Amino acid sequence: MTLAVWILGDQLNLENSALDGLPAGAPVLMIESIAHVQVRNYHQQKLVLVWSAMRHFAERLKEQGYQVHYVEQAQDFEPELTTFISNNQITELKVMEPANIPFQELLQNLNLACKLTVTPNNHYLWSAQEFCQWAKDRKRLLMEDFYRETRRRLDILMDEGKPVGGQWNYDQDNRKPPKKGLNLPEPLSFKPDSITQSVIDLVKKNFGQNFGQVNSFSWAVTQEDALKVLEEFIQHRLAQFGPYQDAMITGQWTMFHGLISPYLNLGILSPKEVIQRIEKAYRSRELPLASVEGFIRQVIGWREYIRGLYLLKMPEGYAQKNWFDHQQPLPDFFWTGETSMNCLKETLEQTIETGYAHHIQRLMILGNFSLIAGLNPQAVENWFHSAYIDAYDWVMQTNVLGMALFADGGVLASKPYAASANYINKMSNYCEGCRYNPKERLGEDACPFNYLYWNFLDRHREKLNQQGRMGLVLAHLDKLDEKTRTAYASQTTHFLNAQSKG
Ligand code: SF4
Repeated sequence: MTLAVWILGDQLNLENSALDGLPAGAPVLMIESIAHVQVRNYHQQKLVLVWSAMRHFAERLKEQGYQVHYVEQAQDFEPELTTFISNNQITELKVMEPANIPFQELLQNLNLACKLTVTPNNHYLWSAQEFCQWAKDRKRLLMEDFYRETRRRLDILMDEGKPVGGQWNYDQDNRKPPKKGLNLPEPLSFKPDSITQSVIDLVKKNFGQNFGQVNSFSWAVTQEDALKVLEEFIQHRLAQFGPYQDAMITGQWTMFHGLISPYLNLGILSPKEVIQRIEKAYRSRELPLASVEGFIRQVIGWREYIRGLYLLKMPEGYAQKNWFDHQQPLPDFFWTGETSMNCLKETLEQTIETGYAHHIQRLMILGNFSLIAGLNPQAVENWFHSAYIDAYDWVMQTNVLGMALFADGGVLASKPYAASANYINKMSNYCEGCRYNPKERLGEDACPFNYLYWNFLDRHREKLNQQGRMGLVLAHLDKLDEKTRTAYASQTTHFLNAQSKG
């Protein structure tokens, strides 16, 4: 009997459960599939990140004594698997359960000449079964309930069964607008080594028409470097992360964010390791609790919850949800960054250059615009999935459809994240450099976020009325006279028609 392991591109960790008990010298297979990346217009830096990290991980596996079979730029998985199994007389192939449902289906449909064993995915803190058990019989699947349960179960930021500091959540201390004179640290950047450079050259040659730029690639591609990013975050950013996690400043693409999501989602950092290091730093370095709690909530709360909901809801047709029946096509400027709306332009240009935007840029600039402009949710999800360096099916379906676009009708979010220019003007300085006026609601200089917002509320008044937390804003809407509401509708139509024509 010859046992082998197949490592997928987002499972790049020696703790991968398929490697458990595998003797040194055993064959390990890794495959780069072109067909797999042709399904959407992936950012060029995403392709470099994944393939370079895979190639570096293959070197690490060799150092551990495994016999690594690495296939560069294969057309597809199945022919390579067949050849590998036949050439090496493999009788059993082990692979860790894929995080993404399309890949789980791919596995189920493989026709292989050996036994295929799927081992549990140990890259999350909750197993799929544990999440289903937690969700069973609950009226509402509230993130806050899930988060508290995770803190208790894993004993994170707890003192004798109680939350450290006496509160579960310090959101009220966070969400500050940006202020002048903030000392923003430069993020760590990594000069491409010869492996990364060869992947950059390959991507330029074969995928140079894909979205984004690749020349500025400076992401970490090994666990060692990803841990340096985490340590830099703890030392120089974490203390300010909490208060300014929702703030946006022109030209500042990272603010105080950690930049570790690409590494968590590739598998080169494990969530357990990240939270242990953060909690240790909190206890030894007296970091502000509001910042530490806010960050830990992102990792053990949102990340796990989003993934749990994905596994639970996707079999019910979640990917096709469109509660508002929004059908407006995605404007071209999402791909080019060419728009006169400065907040969108800043966020999109930064995305083109780096493959990254922080969560409030994604939620309150891009997601908010997509929601109030009535863009088709599946087109928006496809764009987010293509554009971001940390994007995978399990992250994007629930985050974009549920959180940003409320396309699931409130399974995930308790109300739509819709906002006018007021919010953007308060939380950023983007409006200072914009040709539109954030205070104007109608007319040539009016900020599109204003009339789109009011018209969104007006168009969907009946549906929104069913949402408990929308009462106040709908009361404002009801104070508008018919003439004003018609004017919002007409300027919205004019704006959307202009976008459709490019
Ligand atoms: Fe964005 Fe409107 Fe502000 Fe311009 S005025 S930056 S479009 S919110």
